[in-house]
Amino acid sequence: MRKRVLLRGLLVVILAFAAPSIIEQNAVASASGQPCSALLVSNDDAIRRTQVLVEQLIKDSYPELTNADIQVQTFASAADYFRSGFSVKRFLFGSKMRYFIRVNPRVFALNAPEAGVRAILAHELAHVYDFHRRKRIRLLGLMRLAMKSYTACFERRTDLQAIRRGYGAGLKAYRLWLYQNIPAESLAEKRRNYFSPEELDAIAARRTQQPEVLEYWFKRVPRNLQELHHATH
Ligand SMILES: [Zn+2]
Repeated sequence: MRKRVLLRGLLVVILAFAAPSIIEQNAVASASGQPCSALLVSNDDAIRRTQVLVEQLIKDSYPELTNADIQVQTFASAADYFRSGFSVKRFLFGSKMRYFIRVNPRVFALNAPEAGVRAILAHELAHVYDFHRRKRIRLLGLMRLAMKSYTACFERRTDLQAIRRGYGAGLKAYRLWLYQNIPAESLAEKRRNYFSPEELDAIAARRTQQPEVLEYWFKRVPRNLQELHHATH
């Protein structure tokens, strides 16, 4: 019994440190230079627009998430527009899991392309799908993956899930827009952690010649153009 209490205590400590990392957080606090148009979309409006897209995406592309409890919330950032996570409280106390998709309303004020927004939401739903299909205890392993040194593999694999479901071209449109709408100092990190437009083109070209290569990439996630070109079985 004492062992179990100790174990639970240990779990709480681990989560207290690890949990924030499960929510994608590459936020750059500086909000300087934010255009006035950022004020035009309210939090409620951003939530409503995101909810509509999430519902449609689940219907079209993520039937596995039909009964998942997904809440949409807002956050503010100069460099991030969407994040995902799950309720740590529910995770710890064993109640039904609840997942979060968080939206930065500026994404709508800054006119991100609609296909791009749909694609990045398909990426966030790929995270939710990952949380949803894992047994609770294995979520701890997923948190480890979300930590910094694993971020690029973790995020690129999540991109692959969105690509597998038909959102590769949308991801490219999103990244082209994103690179124009983040502070210059965040660009290198975005290019490292997620597929760039050039890499997405290389993926599309390679798949037309060799469709099964996608499954290989899930096992060995390409971290750059070189690794994309040199994929072998
Ligand atoms: Zn992600």
